Amino acid sequence: MWKIIKRTDLHWQILIALIAGTLFGIYLTPYVVWISWMGDLFLKLLKMVIIPLIVSSIITGIAGIGSPESLGRLGFKTIGFYMTTSLLAILLGLALVNIISPGVGADLSLAESVENVPAAEQSLGQLLLGAIPENVFGSMAKGDMLPIIFFTIIFGFFTNLSTPQHQKVIHNLFESLFDVMMKITMAVIKLTPLGVFAIIATVISRYASDTAALTQVFSRMGLYMLTVVLALFIHSQITMNLILMLARINPIRHLKNMSTPLLTAFSTSSSSATLPLTMDAIETKDGVSTKITSFTLPLGATINMDGTALYECIAVIFIAQAYGIDLSIGQQMIVVVTALLAAIGAAGIPMAGLVMMTIVLNAVGLPLEGIGLILAVDRILDMFRTAVNVYGDTCAAVVIARSEGEKLNV
Ligand code: ASP
Repeated sequence: MWKIIKRTDLHWQILIALIAGTLFGIYLTPYVVWISWMGDLFLKLLKMVIIPLIVSSIITGIAGIGSPESLGRLGFKTIGFYMTTSLLAILLGLALVNIISPGVGADLSLAESVENVPAAEQSLGQLLLGAIPENVFGSMAKGDMLPIIFFTIIFGFFTNLSTPQHQKVIHNLFESLFDVMMKITMAVIKLTPLGVFAIIATVISRYASDTAALTQVFSRMGLYMLTVVLALFIHSQITMNLILMLARINPIRHLKNMSTPLLTAFSTSSSSATLPLTMDAIETKDGVSTKITSFTLPLGATINMDGTALYECIAVIFIAQAYGIDLSIGQQMIVVVTALLAAIGAAGIPMAGLVMMTIVLNAVGLPLEGIGLILAVDRILDMFRTAVNVYGDTCAAVVIARSEGEKLNV
């Protein structure tokens, strides 16, 4: 039995856990207290990996940029492109989740916690100022993500300005740390089915006697998934393609050329694992030079995640809606900024976006348990958002190559 479970794909394990958790919650309601600790354990393990994973992921991405010259025009162009497109993606997600409102009226059995969840009253200015650490180790001890990300970006950036000898030491050190953290994270991710099983059983048990409410939960989850997929589609097929057309690149030909990395991204849910295929397709099919690919794509796989960025925004606002909390415009702006930082900090591995969501939830004072709501469908949505993450990197590579006057095949 164990062997069969081990060989089954994670997607299927999660699906089975979802069904088993639902049945457990409905038919074995009194026993749910015995298994709910598994959900807590899973969430704690996710929290455990966050800081070292983000720090090593960002430093490896930014410190790999190379010489100060390459940090010049090409560097600022690439980072500017990445930040702008990620921001466009988040704003699209924000608009759609407010229009569709998938969480409004979801009443996901959270009503009793609502009174205890005051959304953080923090202005954007305070948030930005608070992102500068007075003591970076203090921030690490407290688990304050924004100051950690801020310091890490600065550290990665200035590593490129140190002597080649020191650069090499720092880069190798953090690359090794990143490798180890990826392995630990992958091991934690393997426990997702247990987390899904326990959390779903706990949530469902609260409805066991109320079928109408149960139907409501499922229909709201469906609407939430639809919102995410719709936003991903609009961003990749309309926004990004318009940008390609502005740069006189044929979007259809480009999309066709990228089919292998995109399908790989979809099936592996990992931008990092897809990276070699992305580099190969961009160079051999689109005709972009190695100079530009080796600069834009590894950096993109680490810090440019349009799909993850819009996903963070939609998920957190969905959670707030489900808790019945109205986020003010100011708070929604905080979600926008922190979603951007969360996407920058997310590693290119399966479900990294979920790990990073704690940052955005914390910033607006929503409880971490909110993640339990979206956990079950995260893995499926991960496939779609990873494909969009990779597509965003490829668009940056061709657009920047064109702006540098390279002759392309698209
Ligand atoms: N799986 C995504 C990626 O590799 C990250 C995420 O979980 O959002 O790009």
